[in-house]
Amino acid sequence: MKALSLFSGGLDSILAVKLIERQGIDVKGIFLETPFFSSEKALKYSEYLGLPLKVIDITDDYIDMLLKPKYGYGKGLNPCIDCHIFMLRVVGSMLQKEDAGFIISGEVLGQRPMSQNIRSLMTISKESGFADLIIRPLSAKRLRESLPEKAGWVKRGELLGLSGRSRRPQIELAGRLGIKNYPAPAGGCLLTDRVFSRRLKDLISASAVLERRDIELLKWGRHFRIEKEAKVIVGRNKRENEVISSLAVKNDIVLTDDSYPGPTVLASKNISADGLRLATSIAASYSNAPPNHPVALKMLRDSKAHRIVGYGKERGYFSQFMIR
Ligand code: SF4
Repeated sequence: MKALSLFSGGLDSILAVKLIERQGIDVKGIFLETPFFSSEKALKYSEYLGLPLKVIDITDDYIDMLLKPKYGYGKGLNPCIDCHIFMLRVVGSMLQKEDAGFIISGEVLGQRPMSQNIRSLMTISKESGFADLIIRPLSAKRLRESLPEKAGWVKRGELLGLSGRSRRPQIELAGRLGIKNYPAPAGGCLLTDRVFSRRLKDLISASAVLERRDIELLKWGRHFRIEKEAKVIVGRNKRENEVISSLAVKNDIVLTDDSYPGPTVLASKNISADGLRLATSIAASYSNAPPNHPVALKMLRDSKAHRIVGYGKERGYFSQFMIR
């Protein structure tokens, strides 16, 4: 018997895999990747466990769901219920090809008030289309018996009945199972980050289509919405300056200050002449040039370099445009 497990690399997903593996069942981990959550942790801990892992990029379909989640968002732009439904659907559709009999999920009843209460878990199972084939080993004894349990593929008695937000039972279980290396419970999903969510919301309202490059840019620098269709992004350190510059596409404008140490500033391709003036003013204001001092900037557009002067202002002036 073989099972597919949604595997994030977090402690709950590690334990869920272990509880099934120790019943003599082969498990393959599946990580569904988007720009909002990376496979880094899943890769690291699957290697530690010796768990085979398949990483699948689901970005395009995920974005369609993200724009119109049936069950809404959490505190950020995290559509957790729809996200779980989506992921279980994807993994469920792989069962036959992978010659696997059921799906493992590390969800714990009551751990997240909105998306992991009993009603939400039932909704998630039902809407995924694979309700009978989903096992949540950490809370199974508090949930309806699944087909693998009824059929005797999985011994229900060896599963757990955890509920609630305390992590102590998981930490104790990790100790009993000899798992010494596991990550601290931390975000990992940018959709739960409020600043990222506000930037994403702004991007959604300004764009007909969400481009991957524009999503990637949301992770770096300070962001200013200066016109309906134009943004300015200001690097905050060397690494951000390099990344912002590397993410420029055709017709974007990259501004740097040749005379004083300063940030790399990216002005989006559809910026107007007035917008460009504002962008140069932002670039001058965030450089180390003295305030209210004209600053000679290098302007790079499609590999062609120009010179342009920016007039700095008090940085507070730009807070009206900042997305934060
Ligand atoms: S936190 Fe992010 S990855 Fe996790 S269920 Fe919610 S939206 Fe999906």
